[in-house]
Amino acid sequence: MTDLTRLTLAEARDGLRAKRFSSEELTRAHVAAVEGARALNAYVLETPERALEMARASDARLARAEAGPLEGLPLGIKDLFCTEGVRTTACSRILGDFTPAYESTVTSQLWRDGAVMLGKLNNDEFAMGSSNETSCFGPVVSPWQRQGTEGAAATQLVPGGSSGGSAAAVAAHLCLGATATDTGGSIRQPAAFTGTVGIKPTYGRCSRWGVVAFASSLDQAGPIARTVEDSAILLRSMSGHDPKDTTSADLPVPDFEAACRRGVRGLTIGIPKEYRLDGMAAEIAALWDQGTAWLRDAGAKVVEVSLPHTRYALPAYYIVAPAEASSNLARYDGVRYGIRVPDRDIARMYEGTRAAGFGREVQRRIMIGTYVLSAGYYDAYYGRAQRIRTLIKRDFDEVYAAGVDAILTPATPSAAFGIGEKGSADPVEMYLNDVFTVTVNMAGLPGIAVPAGFDKQGLPLGLQLIGRPFDEETLFAAGQVIEDAAGRVRLPEPWWQ
Ligand code: GLN
Repeated sequence: MTDLTRLTLAEARDGLRAKRFSSEELTRAHVAAVEGARALNAYVLETPERALEMARASDARLARAEAGPLEGLPLGIKDLFCTEGVRTTACSRILGDFTPAYESTVTSQLWRDGAVMLGKLNNDEFAMGSSNETSCFGPVVSPWQRQGTEGAAATQLVPGGSSGGSAAAVAAHLCLGATATDTGGSIRQPAAFTGTVGIKPTYGRCSRWGVVAFASSLDQAGPIARTVEDSAILLRSMSGHDPKDTTSADLPVPDFEAACRRGVRGLTIGIPKEYRLDGMAAEIAALWDQGTAWLRDAGAKVVEVSLPHTRYALPAYYIVAPAEASSNLARYDGVRYGIRVPDRDIARMYEGTRAAGFGREVQRRIMIGTYVLSAGYYDAYYGRAQRIRTLIKRDFDEVYAAGVDAILTPATPSAAFGIGEKGSADPVEMYLNDVFTVTVNMAGLPGIAVPAGFDKQGLPLGLQLIGRPFDEETLFAAGQVIEDAAGRVRLPEPWWQ
């Protein structure tokens, strides 16, 4: 039999329904792949027994023709999603062996639709990072490598972050698709770094209930998958109104899979001039021009647009996100969750617990967040950042009001970098990875990253499409056009086994 891990999620779904193989066979193939890929550190917890039990239940439902939309399909779950009875850590020491007594709404919808859980995936601690190097479980190693010149050893690369485990697992065929979260780019940037597809839906499309909070007004769940169609299938199951999350939108969930086949004829695509940064790498600029040409050839009208407040987005994000994080992370005090470092009084117990439990990047964010929210500095920093956020949102509103259906930009300013190569001396160097993605979270819009080409070292590069609120369908339609034109990425052969 062919290697079942090589199928797309859509192919696996159709194969199960046609009884070409069972979910148990499909799941066993993935469990073996996961076990053979521990060198990548993508999974922080493997749950093979649960997976096989879920697969056998799926096979029984398939036999009775009661299959759900994701029946029998093995997935990986970012460790930011609470899973009932299964350790959930957000990859922070402070959560210790926290085992939730409840299931996040998004994952419960996946299981409702028949999906199988392979385990929990690595991420940056509390989803703070762009390289998956801040996890308390150590960095994820990308399945992509930078080849050495003249016989030198290959360089190990980051898969991006914070959903680095999700992106690496999908790219290395260690699951058919994965859940991820995106506060400033954490779905789209790792997707771009690994030649996979990632969509951050509109704020409110997916419930945040049971997802460990980073910055609540920016956080959204979404899928990472190997094709645009697979990401559409997954997002449909993940979406929908949830009375337990007051910010979740009470709107019908469209058939995203059907939207992939719509094409772009008659659509207007905006190219924002402010995203053409000074000193932009020539290959990124060329990729962007190529994407523009593909959409035009497929029948879209392309216009230049202006988003004048773009240059303030990154600094404003790095005030708003830490501010919300410092407030959300106040709950980890050694009393109710995770680890505790006992001491002679409660204040010392809090301090000792938080000093031991939080990593450096998380501590930095808490310090920035409490500073910008403090009485003397609130107006100067947080208040201004919020006003900038409004202006960023207004820029997008005006472009869409003028008839633009979606906006095309690069997904990242570069291809993946080496482990340990960036940010150790200057954290801002790491933050710059998010220049093209944070505006989308600040405005609450949907954004998809689709692989579109390679840099001169053969590493994948992605393009981003940004849509109107709750119009993910146009992103799937245009994303499919890019995928068809670029050709599906040939993912790396397993050197890690
Ligand atoms: N890299 C950004 C940050 O560190 C975004 C992270 C995310 O989207 N979760 O804040």
